[in-house]
Amino acid sequence: MNRRVYLDYSATTPMKKEVLEEMQPYFIDKFGNPSSIYSFGREAKKAVDIARDQVAKLIGAKTDEVYFTAGGSEADNWAIKGIAYANKDKGNHIITTKIEHHAVLHVCEHLEKNGFNVTYLDVDEHGLINLEDLKNAITDQTILISIMFANNEIGTIQPIKEIGQIAKEKGVTFHTDAVQALGNVAIDVNALNIDLMSLSSHKIYGPKGIGALYIRKGIKIHSFVHGGAQERRRRAGTENVPGIVGFGKACELAMENMDTHIKHLKMLREKLIKGIMENIGYVRLNGHPEKRLPGNVNMVFEFIEGESLLLSLDMVGIAGSSGSACTSGSLDPSHVLMAIGLPHEIAHGSLRLTVGDFTTEEDIDYVLEQLPKIVDRLRQMSPLYEKVKGGQKSCTQKK
Ligand SMILES: *Cc1c(COP(=O)(O)O)cnc(C)c1O
Repeated sequence: MNRRVYLDYSATTPMKKEVLEEMQPYFIDKFGNPSSIYSFGREAKKAVDIARDQVAKLIGAKTDEVYFTAGGSEADNWAIKGIAYANKDKGNHIITTKIEHHAVLHVCEHLEKNGFNVTYLDVDEHGLINLEDLKNAITDQTILISIMFANNEIGTIQPIKEIGQIAKEKGVTFHTDAVQALGNVAIDVNALNIDLMSLSSHKIYGPKGIGALYIRKGIKIHSFVHGGAQERRRRAGTENVPGIVGFGKACELAMENMDTHIKHLKMLREKLIKGIMENIGYVRLNGHPEKRLPGNVNMVFEFIEGESLLLSLDMVGIAGSSGSACTSGSLDPSHVLMAIGLPHEIAHGSLRLTVGDFTTEEDIDYVLEQLPKIVDRLRQMSPLYEKVKGGQKSCTQKK
C-alpha cells in the first residue's frame, strides 16, 4: 500500500485509543439519561460530572463554569449571540478581528443585520492585532470583545493576557475562540482574564460533535437552546454522554502530555519549515515566526495554485490544506491571508501543513522528498515562473 501521511491536524485529529475505550461503555451498557434519578441515570450523570471536571482542570476553570455544546461552532455562536442579546440594553457594539474563524465572523455579520455594530480589527503582516487599535475601538457602547486565541490557518497566537487586561479595565466582556490553542498552549482563564472561551473536542484527539463554552461565573448571557433543564438551564437537550466522556478524557490526556506534545510538534514543525526553505525557492512562511502554534506550518509557494498543490500531494498520499477556499465552494482566497496583506495571486499559492501527536519524523522526510518534485513540476507549467527565472522580481524576494 502507498504511504499515507496526514498533515491536517488543524482540520481534525484522529481519536486516541484511550479516548475510545473510555467512551465505549456509554453506548450500550451505561446508556442511561443523566436526568433520570435511578441508577442508570446516576451512572451517566456521574460520567458527565467527571468529564466536566477534566475540561475545567485543563483551563483553570471551576467545574460549574464549563457548559457542553455540540462543538466549537456552537460555542462561538452561543458566546456572541448570548452576550449580544443579554446586554443590548447596555450597548450594541462588538469588537472582533478580520481573521476569526467563520463561526465568529458569520455570527457577527448576522448580528450586524440585527441592529449591532461590529468593528473588525486589522492585523499586521504576522497576523497580530495592535493593542492600541483595540483600546481605541472601545466605546461606551461596547459590550463584547471576541478575539481568537490562536489562528487556525496561520497559527498566530494573540497577546491574550494583554487583551484580557484591557477588557477588564474597560469593563467589557471578553470571549476567545481557543479551539486551536487548547492542548497546544497553557491556558488559565483567570490569569488571562478570559470571560468566555470556546473549545472543541475533535481538534484535541477527542470525538467530533462535542465541545464546550467556558462561562465565567456572574456573566450575563442568554440561554442557547431552550427546553429541558440540562447544563444548568442554559443549553437544553439530553447530553451526548459518550461524546462528553470522550472529550473529558481527551482533556485529561492533553493535560498529562502537554509538554512532550508541544516539544514533539515543534521539532517536526521546525524540521518541515527548514526542509522546505532549504530545498524550494520562492517560498515564505505565513504567520508569526515565534508566536505560533507548535504544529502549524503555513507557506506560500509562488507561481503555484494551492489547489493543484493539494491534489498533487494527495496523489502521493499526503493530506494538507490550502489557503484558497476553492474546495469549500468559493474562489476567493482565504480572508486570513488577505488580512495579513498577501496579494490575491500569492494567497492562492499557499499550503497549510499541520502536524500532530501521531506524526513521525519519517512522515516529514517523505513530505520533504515529494514536495520539491511536485513544486518543480507545477512551476514548469507556469508562464510567470519563466519570467522570474528570466530576471523579473518576485514577491518573496527582499526588496
Ligand atoms: C475547528 C474550529 C472551530 C469549529 O469547531 P467545530 O467543533 O468543528 O464546530 C472553531 N474555531 C476554530 C478556530 C477552529 O479551528
